[in-house]
Amino acid sequence: MEAIYCQGCGAEIQTEDKSKIGYAPPTALEREEVICKRCFRLKHYNEVQDVDMGASDFLKILDQISSYEGTIVNVVDIFDVHGSFIPSIHRLVGNKPVILIGNKVDLLPKSTNLNKVKQWMRKVAKDFGIQVQDIFLVSSVKGTGMNEVAFELEKIRKGKDIYVVGCTNVGKSTFINYLISKNVENQEVITTSYFPGTTLGFIDIPLDETSSMIDTPGVVNAHQMAHLLSDNDLKVVTPKKEIKPRVYQLNQGQTLYIGGLARIDIDNADEKHGYICYFSNELTIHRTKQENADRLYEDHLGEMLSPPGENTLRNWPELEAHTFTLNSSMDVVISGLGWVKVPEKGVRVKVYAPKGVKVMLRDPII
Ligand code: GDP
Repeated sequence: MEAIYCQGCGAEIQTEDKSKIGYAPPTALEREEVICKRCFRLKHYNEVQDVDMGASDFLKILDQISSYEGTIVNVVDIFDVHGSFIPSIHRLVGNKPVILIGNKVDLLPKSTNLNKVKQWMRKVAKDFGIQVQDIFLVSSVKGTGMNEVAFELEKIRKGKDIYVVGCTNVGKSTFINYLISKNVENQEVITTSYFPGTTLGFIDIPLDETSSMIDTPGVVNAHQMAHLLSDNDLKVVTPKKEIKPRVYQLNQGQTLYIGGLARIDIDNADEKHGYICYFSNELTIHRTKQENADRLYEDHLGEMLSPPGENTLRNWPELEAHTFTLNSSMDVVISGLGWVKVPEKGVRVKVYAPKGVKVMLRDPII
């Protein structure tokens, strides 16, 4: 079949994979002007939809964006900041101003110090090689903080385009749809191909006569826990409501299992302390003795220790150990899963997480 390109975003049309760029149902091919499902939804329902692209495709478009003028809006999942940063984001940014959006603020407990979260996010951005102009913590589902974002963006962009970038699942579509619902009134949102012949899957949402908000495909980040999980397990792991902290009084030699997805051993501690766990309320936490922990995992993974459920277990990697000795109270963060606040200095913890999933320390945010 001869290649057909979407009249909206320029992506090559395919009829196989709904989650990928350029998908259109076979019936759409009979029309004279073919547009992909994503552009169709935007055109008729004023709503963007999620499509994915691999990191290597993303690298291809980096250089192109870097040569355009405009403002970059980088959306990350506040519950998984490291995991949801685009690794090569600095290449895309160039000299453009960057606004960092920490989405899903509604999931953090009310007692969270949001200023600390912002400071920490600024540091993470720096580690990824970008200097951000401003950081906003928002809930694009609830609308929290979104007016401030819209106001600031209008100021910063100085009439130029806005590029919205992010990994899959951070809530980029929800974020854009919120802005569209507030700002775009009764107009045909989509224009014809803004980047002719590029097959990039950029979608152009006009802001005024001369500038646009551009939705870029979501980047699939291999280090995210989400890619290891079946849809069902992902539902359990992804918090839907404000997280309720769970406190465990633990001695040296005790172990916590977070479902069967991760394990935390108190390897060395001079006395009993309260360890505060911040994970999806639906995830079961089991306490056991370190000496029994391996057996428990062998005998009960996928049953008592679940998720991982059956579908996830088909490709489940080994757990890999990370050891930390803390100089002060710190959060031990398991990317894409949550974190444990270790209360005292001098404690040594051994954290087991699936191979490839990042585990790190940060100053406590609560
Ligand atoms: P995208 O892949 O980045 O476009 O992400 P989506 O917009 O499809 O959102 C991914 C998931 O996160 C969906 O289940 C959304 O309902 C959820 N989500 C998006 N924004 C928020 C938010 O502000 N708060 C919460 N709790 N969930 C959100």
